[in-house]
Amino acid sequence: MPTPRLRLYNTLTRTKEDFVPIDADNVRMYVCGPTVYDYAHIGNARPVIVFDVLYRLLRHLYGEKHVAYVRNITDVDDKINARAAERGISIRELTEETNRIFQADVKALGCLEPTVQPRATEHIAEMIAIIERLIAGGHAYAADGHVLFSVPSMPDYGRLSRRPLDEMIAGARVDVAPYKKGDMDFVLWKPSADSEPGWESPWGRGRPGWHIECSAMSWRHLGETFDIHGGGIDLVFPHHENEIAQSRCCFDTPVMANVWMHNGFLQVEGEKMSKSAGNFVTIHELLHSEKFGGQLWSGPVLRLAMLRTHYRQPIDFTSKALEDARKKLDAWMRAARLALDGEAAAPEPSDDLVAALADDLNTHSALTSLDRLFNTTGDGQSDAHRQLGADLVFLGLASRSELKKPHAGFVSVDVDKVQALIDARLAARAAKNWAESDRLRDELVAMSITLKDNKDGTTTWEVKR
Ligand SMILES: [Zn+2]
Repeated sequence: MPTPRLRLYNTLTRTKEDFVPIDADNVRMYVCGPTVYDYAHIGNARPVIVFDVLYRLLRHLYGEKHVAYVRNITDVDDKINARAAERGISIRELTEETNRIFQADVKALGCLEPTVQPRATEHIAEMIAIIERLIAGGHAYAADGHVLFSVPSMPDYGRLSRRPLDEMIAGARVDVAPYKKGDMDFVLWKPSADSEPGWESPWGRGRPGWHIECSAMSWRHLGETFDIHGGGIDLVFPHHENEIAQSRCCFDTPVMANVWMHNGFLQVEGEKMSKSAGNFVTIHELLHSEKFGGQLWSGPVLRLAMLRTHYRQPIDFTSKALEDARKKLDAWMRAARLALDGEAAAPEPSDDLVAALADDLNTHSALTSLDRLFNTTGDGQSDAHRQLGADLVFLGLASRSELKKPHAGFVSVDVDKVQALIDARLAARAAKNWAESDRLRDELVAMSITLKDNKDGTTTWEVKR
């Protein structure tokens, strides 16, 4: 198959462009990762899913060994300090716990592990090195224990966000400080009190600003200039603008990354998500509680609901959309499993799927191609449904092992039979008849039922798909 032309929308140029990697043997992508102080919300899930699809596509086009995907973990931040103090635990405990939950959440969403997930606290030396170079080059200055980036030292500052100057100044004035020379100058390094995390530096004991973290980690793992930088649209200004300023002025390069990609906003049931509005939805509770829409949602259903909207469009996350995605995925899985009949899905995605994704990740058109396979009738049906299985695997909507299992969607589960088997198993356990209890568990597992034995002696269950 000839490699399709990959076209990506570049925020830097506001156009869809042919993607030409700097080195096709080493395609490099950086995506801003989570600040680990609380459960990730469903808005955080969007870039993780979108750039996972791009990662899968790049690996397909250039070869698995030729793509490096870096997604950082921000484990030093004032929000982390505040939350750790509030909960009365150490910063390390908080960041470790939050990161563990984040990793489990995104795995459930069908995301591959990035090549590297660097932690900010392990790259302080690189941050100090960049700041020293910026000071030496006249792009930064130390004042009052702080180091600030001098925005007027960069004539084309603001190229990514294209915001009018007065708007940027108004935004930057939010944190007015006596040590700032220019209104838009931003913090690279700040002093730490004894109670705050800090590292020794030429400017005293302190800690980095947020923007410098990404410049340091992308440099260390991908080099001075790389191919793709991604994140949510809310990061364009000031975060990405400032990353660009730091990296370009430090390394004297015309660009930091060639292509800048941003996913659109996410709303929940038609409203902006916020803790005060009470519509704050975390990935964890969607997967593990029945808080949203009155039921548990599987990772693949969440992923499909997300991919039905093009990544640059705003998305409205609703329980209706999840229900639709669940029905669709259930139908696709059933067809693919029947056709595969216990065999593994083929390794290659269909040409139509790859072509759709290569057009700036047109997931809507990609999912239409899956529907076409699903709706195939007659002689070609079996082959089409087997290919559907392969395409579901490629998109991260199913694993190969899941596809090999017999199908047990919600609709086909005989609830009375499941309950009868569970009751029989509880009785066997009460009689210490472990062999019978295990046999009944195996029977339930064969029906794709997973059991959870609770401390109070009851057993709850769910359909595992
Ligand atoms: Zn970043």
